[in-house]
Amino acid sequence: MDTDATEPAQPRRDEDRTSEPDRADAGSAFGPVGVVGAGAMGAGIAQVAATAGHAVSLVDAAPGAAAAAVERIGAALSRLVDKGRLPADDAAAVLARVTPAESLDELPNCGLVIEAVPEDLDLKRRIFAELADSQPSTTVLATNTSSIDIDDIATDVADPERVLGLHFFNPPPVMELVEVVHGKRTAPAFVEHVTALMASWGKAPVRCSSTPGFIVNRVARPFYGEAQRIVESGVADAATVDWVLREKGGFPMGPLELTDFIGQDVNLAVGTSVWEQTDRDERYAPTNFQRDLVAAGRLGRKSGGGVYTYAADGSAQDAEPDLELAGRLVGGPIATDPLARTLAMLVNEAVDLVARDEASADDVDTAMRLGVRYPKGPIEWGREIGFDLVARQLAELDEAFPGGRYRPSSALTDGSLT
Ligand code: NAD
Repeated sequence: MDTDATEPAQPRRDEDRTSEPDRADAGSAFGPVGVVGAGAMGAGIAQVAATAGHAVSLVDAAPGAAAAAVERIGAALSRLVDKGRLPADDAAAVLARVTPAESLDELPNCGLVIEAVPEDLDLKRRIFAELADSQPSTTVLATNTSSIDIDDIATDVADPERVLGLHFFNPPPVMELVEVVHGKRTAPAFVEHVTALMASWGKAPVRCSSTPGFIVNRVARPFYGEAQRIVESGVADAATVDWVLREKGGFPMGPLELTDFIGQDVNLAVGTSVWEQTDRDERYAPTNFQRDLVAAGRLGRKSGGGVYTYAADGSAQDAEPDLELAGRLVGGPIATDPLARTLAMLVNEAVDLVARDEASADDVDTAMRLGVRYPKGPIEWGREIGFDLVARQLAELDEAFPGGRYRPSSALTDGSLT
């Protein structure tokens, strides 16, 4: 399993939306697009690029893998035709634009190459060095990494200013969000250029620096961590916490049921990666609650049980919330209010990212609404709650649970975000 994979977004009903075919010519002037790695993400990205009008070369090192991915793209396009979402002629034209290849040498000169091989720094570094040699100096070289620093990937590239991250979400044809990630040496002109290109593909690009977890995987951490801590401390059971976040917070899924859906191991790996990359900042420390679940093989839905136990028909057992308890907790002291505590931490994380100049407030809000389907962006939420109140809530939490996890961002009170 690719433990560094981005956590999948909360599920939605219109899973089969695709980019509009009338955008089909928007990208064609840009030239061919190369996609390296024809797995789950590479195939989806190739479909998106071809739908936007590009000739796409899809490369995979495993013999036959690129051709198999082209077949999967064909099947995905056929489903859209069957549902009346794409004219059959358009589907045929999109598919005809995707060519399989088995080595980087077979790539034509591209405007953009997007790498989507497994999350392995040495492998990515080698591929970028090879691409930098074989592609013209004007080709933008992008990585779909979920967690590796962009500058590390560009180490062996002579002109690292053309290297950046294009972090698509799974599945790429459905998910609008793309994080456009710049390393320290990425040229701003390339970031602008690719951001505009993503918009022309029908995506919602947001920009951020190569910070651990980028926007979504960083800001989302307390959504899971606070719920786990509340259950771990015996304040409330999982079903009640999930109910509060869903019914009172408007989140599509509660944090505990969502981690069962994502896979406790995948969610723990993403959290641990952010924790390690921030020199084990207490804010991202994994909980024993989650470590114990993983150690016990309770990985979530895929293993038949995680926080909840699942029946053969997929229904969760022990999922009955205690509504009387929920009523007492919400609006009560911050330390035991699952919603207020989670929101305070989400706002703090988002505000800090903006204060460090790693992303704009608008981009953080867009990323969280589209990447993990939060009902509101955390900065907007902070404005509604009041940044001063959030700072006071965090100070109270910091007193109740010392150690640095709840330290308030100075930006909450310095007036920079009002
Ligand atoms: P995957 O394992 O499904 O696909 C990777 C593909 O790369 C495989 O087909 C493999 O044969 C191929 N490959 C391996 N070495 C290669 C090489 N040297 N040259 C060409 N192809 C090679 O992985 P994935 O889930 O598609 O993830 C790919 C990247 O996208 C990773 O960096 C991952 O972190 C990132 N990502 C994944 C997700 C997700 O939810 N799966 C979401 C966002 C980002």
